[in-house]
Amino acid sequence: MALIVQKYGGTSVGSPERIKNLARRVARFKALGHQIVVVVSAMSGETNRLIGLAREVMAEPDPRELDVMVSTGEQVTIGLTAMALMELGIKAKSYTGAQVRIVTDDAHTKARILHIDEKRIRADLDAGNVVVVAGFQGVDEDGNITTLGRGGSDTTGVALAAALKADECQIYTDVDGVYTTDPRVVPEARRLKSITFEEMLELASQGSKVLQIRSVEFAGKYKVKLRVLSSFEEDGEGTLITFEDSENKDSNMEQPIISGIAFNRDEAKITVLGVPDKPGIAYQILGPVADANIDVDMIIQNTGADGTTDFTFTVHKNEMPKALSILRDQVQAHIGAREISGDDKIAKVSVVGVGMRSHVGIASQMFRTLAEEGINLQMISTSEIKIAVVIDEKYMELAVRVLHKAFGLEAA
Ligand code: ADP
Ligand code: ASP
Ligand code: MG
Repeated sequence: MALIVQKYGGTSVGSPERIKNLARRVARFKALGHQIVVVVSAMSGETNRLIGLAREVMAEPDPRELDVMVSTGEQVTIGLTAMALMELGIKAKSYTGAQVRIVTDDAHTKARILHIDEKRIRADLDAGNVVVVAGFQGVDEDGNITTLGRGGSDTTGVALAAALKADECQIYTDVDGVYTTDPRVVPEARRLKSITFEEMLELASQGSKVLQIRSVEFAGKYKVKLRVLSSFEEDGEGTLITFEDSENKDSNMEQPIISGIAFNRDEAKITVLGVPDKPGIAYQILGPVADANIDVDMIIQNTGADGTTDFTFTVHKNEMPKALSILRDQVQAHIGAREISGDDKIAKVSVVGVGMRSHVGIASQMFRTLAEEGINLQMISTSEIKIAVVIDEKYMELAVRVLHKAFGLEAA
């Protein structure tokens, strides 16, 4: 007997028929004697619909109130899922995040899970129930409803698996695993049988939305056995996230050099022009941005010839207006910057692979491939297992396609 957490995404609960289908799958696992916790997202499109409604009433929705209403999408699907299970004669009980007590910090719309009270779930499981938990949501120490950021149900699933010390966390979605890149953009993309945790973390952080990055972080921290599978297929092995230490593998040769390509249209670029080139500038610019809880991704500082420098960084598109006004109101005059500009028509494309550690020339191959298409690189950043470039948004799909081909990632 195993304890399995199964998370179903929006498409997998997109209609009553699909929820019934999900229930039949759970029933099969239950019949094998396993204990099952089901985590569900809202029906596909529902979270967007709710955010749209909020925006019709308030241009910049109040984050606390947005969480109160956006979290309702998942409250609908947990009830429906529990009922679908009951119809199959299976004992089931559903809980919202707050009812479980999935306790988060108070960063509304992007809260982090602090701890999970797993006693209630455990007792229900021991009494023979399938427990159905709402993804994407929690409650802060003061009882306010919070949400975990877009795609956050993945994180609920993995965090519950960690708290319950589950044998496996299965992420059921509308593709049958993790691919070399998004199969919707490159139809030739290939499913990976397995991918290392480090690569998955890098792909997720670079924008592959198949798993929310925090879910991968949780899996790494608590060594949760994590698998991505299709909710539309009866069986299929999906993609397993592996933890073996790639550096100790004597067979690095067998590793593909590049495992996958990620892309992200969600970032915006902010440039602070003409700042005096002296110590403390980066801190003076990014300190107030960090204080406003705005995450910064790529950072570039150029040295100018005339004693001034340009400072460029990227943030989430949604946070560009806020970051710009902080810089213009609190920072620009203070540091004597000439101009502050923002550009949200950018995209980031990243190639990821642990094999890069033992191979040189990947960057130049990437840059040559993009140059041949006349694609200009606005920013570049690298890590041991990743090279990321910022380009004009309109070339994103082209860049992903030519890189996928250049690195030989198509189906064999
Ligand atoms: P869910 O609603 O089940 O959470 P998501 O839409 O969040 O589903 O994530 C699944 C989607 O992720 C796929 O439909 C696919 O378009 C996209 N995706 C992006 N990159 C990849 C990748 N490397 N492998 C598989 N799917 C990917
Ligand atoms: N329903 C939420 C969203 O659309 C959470 C999730 O699907 O994981 O972002
Ligand atoms: Mg998702």
